[in-house]
Amino acid sequence: MRFSFLPEKRVDFLGEMENIRDMKIDLHVHTTLSSCSQLTLEQILNNAQAKGLDGVCITDHDTMAAADFLTEGIQENGLCVLVGMEYATKGGDFLLFGPFEKLPVGLPAEAVLAAVDAAGGVAIAAHPCRPGRSTHVSLLKKGLCRIIEGVNGRNAAFDNQTVALWPKHYQVGAVGGSDAHTLAELGQVPTQFNVPIMSRDDLILALKEGRYNPLISA
Ligand SMILES: [Zn+2]
Ligand SMILES: [Zn+2]
Repeated sequence: MRFSFLPEKRVDFLGEMENIRDMKIDLHVHTTLSSCSQLTLEQILNNAQAKGLDGVCITDHDTMAAADFLTEGIQENGLCVLVGMEYATKGGDFLLFGPFEKLPVGLPAEAVLAAVDAAGGVAIAAHPCRPGRSTHVSLLKKGLCRIIEGVNGRNAAFDNQTVALWPKHYQVGAVGGSDAHTLAELGQVPTQFNVPIMSRDDLILALKEGRYNPLISA
């Protein structure tokens, strides 16, 4: 898979690199709490750093139950592990980060995104052009979701390329996510942050402030 950073942001980022420790985080990872995933939490904890990651976000389908099995934040081995979820709607799937353990599933996209905003969380439109699960662009046009997955590790190259123009077109940020369901997929599409991320709140703030190197398909 080929992907590249949006040029205008890259210059800023390289300028800041000397002073700030950057972190590579996989924002989109499924554990066996997702019925479609074979990747165990233990495998993630034991292998993420060998795959070049400093952090992993667990984003199981419609559940944040992974939080019951770990203490979020920096683990003993130094890996940062945070829990979000991938929330399915008819308007597309969204990676949500925030206090959404009790968010009812099955809400319409606009209601979910409003709830995320009200709770101070952040939503990322997952695989925005995947056939059958694509993001309704009206949500982006209305500013209800301000970040998309510019590169998703499970997308066909064509589907990633289709969204390469969206950041400019819809004024949204672009991050990457491996959408890992197996150990081989873990860490395939990291997002590079230029601030330290040690907690869910750190991640939310960094995403809102655009403190990452935007990622699009080459
Ligand atoms: Zn899945
Ligand atoms: Zn996913």
